[in-house]
Amino acid sequence: AALYRIDKWGGPYFGVNENGNVSIYPHGAKTLNHQEIDLLKVVKKASDAKDEGGLGLQLPIVIRLPDVLKNRVELIHSAFESAIEAQGYNGHYQGVFPVKCNQDRFVVDDIVRFGSKLRFGLEAGSKPELLLAMSCLCRGNPEAFLVCNGFKDVEFITLALVGRKMNFNTVIVLELEQELDMVIELSRKLGVRPLIGMRAKLRAKHEGHFGATSGERGKFGLTTTQILRVVRKLDECGMLDCLQLLHFHIGSQIPSTALLADGVGEAAQVYCELVRLGARMGVIDIGGGLGIDYDGSKSPNSDVSVDYTLEEYAAAVVGVIKSACDRKMVKHPVICSESGRAIVSHHSVLVFEAVSSSKNSVQQMTPVDVSYLVERLPEDAIVDYRKLSAAATGGEYETCLLYSDQLKQKCVEQFKEGSFDLEQLAAVDGLCDLVYKAIGASDPVRTYHVNLSVFTSIPDFWGIGQLFPIVPIHRLEQKPVVKGTLSDITCDSDGKIGKFIGGEESLLLHELGGGGGGSYYLGMFLGGAYEEALGGIHNLFGGPSVVRVSQSDGPHSFAVTGAFPGPSCADVLRTMQHEPEMMFQTLKHRAEEYVFDEGARGFDHDAIATGLASSFQNMPYLVKDDDDNGYY
Ligand code: PLP
Repeated sequence: AALYRIDKWGGPYFGVNENGNVSIYPHGAKTLNHQEIDLLKVVKKASDAKDEGGLGLQLPIVIRLPDVLKNRVELIHSAFESAIEAQGYNGHYQGVFPVKCNQDRFVVDDIVRFGSKLRFGLEAGSKPELLLAMSCLCRGNPEAFLVCNGFKDVEFITLALVGRKMNFNTVIVLELEQELDMVIELSRKLGVRPLIGMRAKLRAKHEGHFGATSGERGKFGLTTTQILRVVRKLDECGMLDCLQLLHFHIGSQIPSTALLADGVGEAAQVYCELVRLGARMGVIDIGGGLGIDYDGSKSPNSDVSVDYTLEEYAAAVVGVIKSACDRKMVKHPVICSESGRAIVSHHSVLVFEAVSSSKNSVQQMTPVDVSYLVERLPEDAIVDYRKLSAAATGGEYETCLLYSDQLKQKCVEQFKEGSFDLEQLAAVDGLCDLVYKAIGASDPVRTYHVNLSVFTSIPDFWGIGQLFPIVPIHRLEQKPVVKGTLSDITCDSDGKIGKFIGGEESLLLHELGGGGGGSYYLGMFLGGAYEEALGGIHNLFGGPSVVRVSQSDGPHSFAVTGAFPGPSCADVLRTMQHEPEMMFQTLKHRAEEYVFDEGARGFDHDAIATGLASSFQNMPYLVKDDDDNGYY
């Protein structure tokens, strides 16, 4: 288990139990009142057939843990409240969850429910996100903010203003100067006094991958000149009192508190200036960026780690805002943050199965094979063969590699010219493999084929090379002996994982079928943010199945509170405008034409029609053959 550094990136939610399985502590660390949840038991419950007491869901499966969401929301809130108390800050903290990080209905509902007593709100960056945020916040705290970011058109602004009329705390954050005219005009038309925020384009620059939105050349926000023009215009329209919130976002995954303090400090000065210019400011919204230590290294020099804790992050924010406001004698604002990654990353685990692995296919060579081969080698290749034999006998590693390469190359040329047959070519490969093995140079990295689509479930790995912890979820009491890379089931060479946390190019894995036989399950952890909405349907693999699992006091220490099969083949076909019902009819006619005619020769008509129909209903992933426990 130490090998996978679970204690470094997994705490306080994931560990390993005495059975060698990943254990989950959804409330953060072991508590007296709660037992751990054994992840393998959850997977079995979800995937076992219904007649065996399971839920019959197919892998891959996302295991959602609402208790973790609750814990995250509470931890972030209490980190800020503790810093506020410790530093004598005269304002409170009120967070919002940016729904773009995970728009799943239950995730957003859970966050609103758990955050209600903490005045936790939502952030939306598009019209559908705003619609879902408004409907979820009907059950939230009336004081919760509903922050509207992103590019806005008349419809977006109208909806936000209608929301204000419905008594939501909707804040329209200006991302572009031209949005102001629409806000002024539409709010007059609808007779609504809007709550206006603006996003400042800060000079502070986050240099990491996730910092592309920051700095003077960043995509979003108002420049200093634009901020002044907005203030002037609002003043002229008698609406300067509507400007109440200053927002900024210097990028996700802020690596260090030094950069954080730089950005917050600059924004706090802008805030104080807006107060001086007469706006009725009340809130500073520090955006997202609270990072996750994906590899447990606590290093500020990579995109997958950060050098601070939650408490240190909150303390830095509160301290910097306080000192800027105190210097200018400005009332301490409400602090709002839009942490997404930090709220949802831990709450889900993607579990998938390795279905096969490529064995090192060292050919069994006998002396007869060798002499058969050597007799047929061309002159110059025989020279290489002799040098290779001598180097192998003398254990000369580099020379062996050199001559085996040369030998292979010459034989391939012979094959291309047609003077070597397939058996001879295979014999050369076998001979070279034998030599590699003898000198310890055989490539020991195997490919594990996993029933997963990287494009659907780990799109950030494919798109931006983001690393997530991936580990076997069981057999952790056994030493893994095979170096492996993971290859998914899409027909795409990018559908593979050959880089792992720690920068390793392979992962130590167990032999398949070991440990009493059966399946070999792997988990991708900390992927609860962004991955689900970003995932595409390349090769028409749809999303995974999902189960919601809460801690319970029952005998199994967990209860499944929701189970959702992944999209069927028909569902994914529909997303590309195909019509499965019509496709089925067309294929059925074809079957009648070509197959059913042969009924007299004993075809099972019903089996063919049913097979066709069920193909549309199945998930696109590999399905297990119940009889031999393998895959079709
Ligand atoms: N707020 C805004 C405006 C963003 O663009 C983002 C994402 O980049 C977030 C909040 C969430 O950031 P994070 O997931 O780093 O907390």
